[in-house]
Amino acid sequence: MTLRVYNTLNRQKEEFVSIEPGKVRMYVCGPTVYNYIHIGNGRPVIFFDVVRRYLETQGYEVNYIVNYTDVDDKMIRKAEELGITVLDVAETFIQAFKEDIASLRVREANLNPRVTENIDEIIKFIEGLEQEGFAYANGGDVYYRTGKFEDYGKLSHQNLNELQYGIRINVDERKENPQDFVLWKGAKPGEISWESPWGLGRPGWHIECSAMVRKYLGDTIDIHGGGQDLTFPHHECEIAQTEALTGKTMANYWLHNAFLNIDNEKMSKSLGNGILIRNLVKNVRPESFRFFMLSAHYRNPLNFSDESLVQAGNGLERIQNSYDNLKHRFGIAQEGAAPDELAARVQEISAQFKDKMDDDFNTPDAITAVFDLVAEANLYLQQARVSRSGLQLLIDQFHAFDYVLGILRQEAGELLDEDIEQLIVERTNARKDRNWTRADEIRDLLTNKGIYLEDTPQGIRWRRK
Ligand code: AMP
Ligand code: ZN
Repeated sequence: MTLRVYNTLNRQKEEFVSIEPGKVRMYVCGPTVYNYIHIGNGRPVIFFDVVRRYLETQGYEVNYIVNYTDVDDKMIRKAEELGITVLDVAETFIQAFKEDIASLRVREANLNPRVTENIDEIIKFIEGLEQEGFAYANGGDVYYRTGKFEDYGKLSHQNLNELQYGIRINVDERKENPQDFVLWKGAKPGEISWESPWGLGRPGWHIECSAMVRKYLGDTIDIHGGGQDLTFPHHECEIAQTEALTGKTMANYWLHNAFLNIDNEKMSKSLGNGILIRNLVKNVRPESFRFFMLSAHYRNPLNFSDESLVQAGNGLERIQNSYDNLKHRFGIAQEGAAPDELAARVQEISAQFKDKMDDDFNTPDAITAVFDLVAEANLYLQQARVSRSGLQLLIDQFHAFDYVLGILRQEAGELLDEDIEQLIVERTNARKDRNWTRADEIRDLLTNKGIYLEDTPQGIRWRRK
């Protein structure tokens, strides 16, 4: 089976075909860096990490980009509250975000572009829209003219008339139409701002992603993702901006994860029921949380409770025990060939996992395949005579599943494939930043662990000694 993904744009599962063979360009809307992330934010973070990992196992080189919104109203308010600059707020919470996702064994994106580093591109983008008649300036602000973009509403499956009907009064007189949204916001005195053809100001929220997607990944990308609340207005507006300017499809596949609720209630600041990732991981093993997250299909709502977390932890322990037993027996087993039936069965289970993941990343069913492997391993371990090759076959399959899911406990000092990939990305970034010390440090660390890097025309390849 080939990979099929549910595309919000067409409301159906579609065969995944990348624009460039063997390569995937993927963009997921990242955090506004004004506070710590909560367990709900952990859902897209973990899910899209798994999408990326799975695509890699299918032979794709994935260019995965997650932006940081480092200037907006919330950032400005936070800076005032703390009595520091907006950029300091950003530094603090970007660092915190990196720590939090790493604690969940989520690999860093290939790039995390920031709004404040892309102001020129954003201004040019808006100018382009203005020239084509898709934008109009009014009183220091610039708005998008939704009425001119025929496809407005195609992602969220609404039409503009319906949308207008919902809004009875035009609350903002600066807009021609209540549905129009801001591209550039004129600055209030004292606010962080940049020079522009419309005076001092800063970008609206939606335009940053259109500008950054285009700059870093091109006019059309393969996958654009985020939580389902981003479908409208955020992603709808991104499409309107990009497609009006380029005349091309912005993204071929739009993927949206459903929400994580707490004790069957929506998580919200007013209910005070949000749990921060950094607090969660003090008490819960990150692998258990990942396993819990992946135990539901990403398009289904998922309920977080102590009970469901314990349940996930128990399931994961069965997997971990089986794996630990294999490793232990491997140390004392004799040489010898792997039984043919075992090899055939492992192959079958591996194919079953792939089938489920190919079906719109059906992780709960893919986990069933992991449990089938556990059953097979336990059966094999009951035999009086086991061979190293037989055990190795099972261990390798555990590793292959774990590359995608990231749920096995990490041994101290052990470098998993995912860690190596992560270090290579970090090294490439360090070299781009001319941080040779860090780049060399990473190469030495890898060499010490017996990992060798090779520069090839397709990028960096690595192998174990
Ligand atoms: P926000 O902090 O609201 O900007 O959200 C950042 C990302 O997390 C977006 O992709 C949201 O859709 C997603 N998100 C926020 N809350 C939840 C939740 N409770 N469950 C799943 N995803 C969420
Ligand atoms: Zn976005």
